[in-house]
Amino acid sequence: MVPGAAPLDDPALVLAGRRILDVGPARRVLAGFHGPVDDLGDVVLVPGLVNAHAHLELSHLRGQAPPPAGFCAWAGWLFAAARDTAPPDVLAAAVAEAAATGTAAVIDVAGRAGPAVARALREAGLSGLVCREILGRRAGLSLDLPPQLVEAAGDGVTATVCGHALYSTAPELLRRVRAACRAHGAPFGLHLAEHAGEMELFTTGRGEFAAMLAGRLLPKDWQAPGRSPVAEAAALGLLGPDALAVHVVHLAPGDADILARSGATACLCPRSNARIGVGVADAPALAAAGVRLALGTDSLASNDDLDLWNEARALLAAHPGLPGRTVLEAMTINPARLLGRADLGRLVPGSSGGWAELPADLAALLA
Ligand SMILES: [Zn+2]
Repeated sequence: MVPGAAPLDDPALVLAGRRILDVGPARRVLAGFHGPVDDLGDVVLVPGLVNAHAHLELSHLRGQAPPPAGFCAWAGWLFAAARDTAPPDVLAAAVAEAAATGTAAVIDVAGRAGPAVARALREAGLSGLVCREILGRRAGLSLDLPPQLVEAAGDGVTATVCGHALYSTAPELLRRVRAACRAHGAPFGLHLAEHAGEMELFTTGRGEFAAMLAGRLLPKDWQAPGRSPVAEAAALGLLGPDALAVHVVHLAPGDADILARSGATACLCPRSNARIGVGVADAPALAAAGVRLALGTDSLASNDDLDLWNEARALLAAHPGLPGRTVLEAMTINPARLLGRADLGRLVPGSSGGWAELPADLAALLA
């Protein structure tokens, strides 16, 4: 993942926990090293992975989602199911699963359980960003981070706010959220263009999803802007190199170019999209347009596990021609860059993300 650097054959890494102190040809690195040495055998090592979208506080809902029947059905189920958040032992198990499968950092979206999520990440030695999710129509809503969340952050776990979605949150509020993210030196995350109902709502104002929102999350005088969610996000000034657009499954012609021109990162969550039944993001078209991609598991309310390699497998199963490098970058250097973390996503001295082992069945990623 280091631009211009070739893969190292027979390397050695010197580690203190997840911190990489040295990396290079084994002959050089081991010559001056006195300490325990683990020989990992014939494996391929890549940087510790970055899961660019999760909701760890929903981890207690693993295996409970109804069969895929579209976004409205799933959202209706979640609304009733997500009254509680995951207890500490479930959170710890979820984070341990992510860590055991190579994840070094998580960009997490949290409601009430943000402090518990931050603690769980730190206790497992993971880093990342915990985002307090903002939703609603009160443009003047306080965007202050809860003191408990600020207190729980540290050790490479930082905190900020993020927007829920265009349809649920007032434009003025989303602009303020983005400004707050900038003040925190953090990216601005937003669920965007996840399902067909969202496209229908923004282009025509009609449909099942519009009916579901009417009088609840949408004000009575709301008018459809007559353009796609991505075009609307751009028109509202919400896209840019600091933006993390999550899902982007439903694009109008030209939307991939809008995302590419803005410099936004698109986070794909293929298994979540399949579990909810909202379609398949056109990853090859996004990549061809020059959109920077990231990969996320989303929550266990719409996924079976937090193994980011399984996300890569799903992405490749849907798009066998997607270049391996594009997929690896989506799991490492791209989300690291979005986070402004030079110490993640690369196997270099000073990295705090450690390494992950490339599963043998994913060797094609190196092609
Ligand atoms: Zn999400």
